[in-house]
Amino acid sequence: MVDASLHRMFRGRELAGRIVDKISETEVQATIMHVCGTHEQSITRSGIRSLLPDGLEIVPGPGCPVCVTPTTEIDAAVELAENGTIVTVYGDMMRVPGTKGSLSQKKTEGRDCRIVYSPENAVEIARQNPDSEVVFFAIGLETTAPMTAHVLLDSPPENFSVLCSHRLTPPAVDFLLALGESRISGLIEPGHVSTIIGEKAWVPLDEKYHAPQVIAGFEPVDILLAVLMICRQIKEGRGRLENAYRRSVTFDGNLRAQAALDEVFTVKDEVWRGFPVIPNSTYEFKDEYSDFDAVQRFDLKLAESGEACGVDCPLCGKILRGLAKPQDCPKFKSLCTPQNPLGACMVSNEGTCNIAYRYGGIVKIK
Ligand code: SF4
Repeated sequence: MVDASLHRMFRGRELAGRIVDKISETEVQATIMHVCGTHEQSITRSGIRSLLPDGLEIVPGPGCPVCVTPTTEIDAAVELAENGTIVTVYGDMMRVPGTKGSLSQKKTEGRDCRIVYSPENAVEIARQNPDSEVVFFAIGLETTAPMTAHVLLDSPPENFSVLCSHRLTPPAVDFLLALGESRISGLIEPGHVSTIIGEKAWVPLDEKYHAPQVIAGFEPVDILLAVLMICRQIKEGRGRLENAYRRSVTFDGNLRAQAALDEVFTVKDEVWRGFPVIPNSTYEFKDEYSDFDAVQRFDLKLAESGEACGVDCPLCGKILRGLAKPQDCPKFKSLCTPQNPLGACMVSNEGTCNIAYRYGGIVKIK
């Protein structure tokens, strides 16, 4: 059970205020990027941006797994549903529009699309429907991918397969840093992803770019502490990897989860929404598990080039690369709302547009 006093400490105004003062004392002006929808939610909901001194910005990057799943993969899931397959998926993904509508729309048209809360739920549906093909549309970062690997290691029924859309976070950060378009001075790395992959997964970026990187938890004090550590590094002319979330993240990470991933998957280059192809950024089935690969089983054709945004969404791509804010989009809050989302960033609770809509805060981007 989580200690309530721990929660109070990491949400406490007094401690947060002291850290904010120390951030101001550094007098650092910089752009810090995070790559995590949960971080964006915590930052916006708790008003962290309004506490920071002028010139110090936190911008969201590609940290929402629903948002970065490209239209081509949504279209593949919709095609499966249209062809009579039972498509199972985590909740938010149901409403993201592809070129032929969303899974949610297909459900209203009578197709069998179901929300599941774990891959085990999807396997259970496959066992209950032995005469139907059941596909689990697997989205998420390194946090959810081990659960997908686990069900494949557990001998699922033959009528079960996976449309694998998991993504790896460090390759996306590497890509952004190499691109250089976002003027990133420091990075807040995601605590939950790092709990799985360990501090060690960020070391190659540390050695390649020597940029300040701090692994952070999700409470307001966790995030402010990471900002302070980055500001101090910048002030002192240092750039290295630090871990501000030691209560969850070890150097090696979760070895059992990593072993499950290694057993089932290898990695390959892949398209992300808003990006071109990012090297080594998604999981691919090893030969021993290729029978469970929905792409092979149903001969699905996925686009090989990147896409800017969604179908009717002009700016998701730039938002995911830290180059625009929701308020820059002419459709924000008018034509595009959580009830009627035009782009992926408005669908998910972890999407930047959805968060800005719900909590109102302004994502300051110069
Ligand atoms: S407000 Fe809607 S249309 Fe505009 S960028 Fe965000 S998701 Fe896309």
